[in-house]
Amino acid sequence: MAETALRVEGLCKAFGGLVASDRVSLDLRAGEIHALIGPNGAGKSTLIGQIAGWIRPDAGRVLLAGRDVTRLSPARRARLGLGRTFQVSTLALPLSARRNAMIGALARAGGAWGFARPLTRERVLTEAADAALARVGLAARADVPAAELSHGERRRLELACALAGAPRALLLDEPLAGMGPEGAAQMTELLDALRREVPILLVEHDMDAVFRLADRITVLAMGRVIAHGPPAAIRADAAVRATYLGQDDRP
Ligand code: ADP
Ligand code: MG
Repeated sequence: MAETALRVEGLCKAFGGLVASDRVSLDLRAGEIHALIGPNGAGKSTLIGQIAGWIRPDAGRVLLAGRDVTRLSPARRARLGLGRTFQVSTLALPLSARRNAMIGALARAGGAWGFARPLTRERVLTEAADAALARVGLAARADVPAAELSHGERRRLELACALAGAPRALLLDEPLAGMGPEGAAQMTELLDALRREVPILLVEHDMDAVFRLADRITVLAMGRVIAHGPPAAIRADAAVRATYLGQDDRP
């Protein structure tokens, strides 16, 4: 079996009487894109929040490369290699693309810089940032302020910020949101290639992209996993079609 980068075991979370996560389990293996889908209110964001660490589960565990991180802060998890992008942009708009990516590299390094001299830090962070910018096709835009980048370029810069920290696992919350067809195609192609470098847990509403990219899909509805498997099996699953895919009459 392929190595498990991330594992979620029996996560439960209730908001008052509303059960947003009901014994949710899934894993993310080396080399794969695992898509998390489900109708609005299914509990996708709540699950991502528990994995990233800003929502505390009522029960269950989160394991990163085999290590139990359930009680750790989001910053500690980032330092252990959990990379993520946010649905709402967190770029520092006045700063250059390179500076933004350097901040991403710093989030991974955290406090582990005690021994390094400032100039060494600067060089190491710059190298990590430039490599990540090149990876997402923004090498030529390194000195441009984030504010002057197009929407599609900003989404790729957000990805570069996460990649600059050399993550072991990547959580992406709607990376195609708000993109035109060209930007979406570009991002899809990028993610397709990236899976070989870092496994990706992908929350995305664009079903064409999901079915094209995912190695496996987990479907949530009302806080529960209602189906899990490769795209062909999910497409054919009666419960999924009834609660979700049926909504837009997809064959
Ligand atoms: P999704 O991301 O799949 O649309 P969410 O995880 O955002 O779903 O929400 C799952 C359910 O939990 C929804 O019914 C939502 O209203 C509820 N919920 C999410 N966060 C909170 C919160 N902080 N307080 C109360 N209810 C919440
Ligand atoms: Mg959501």
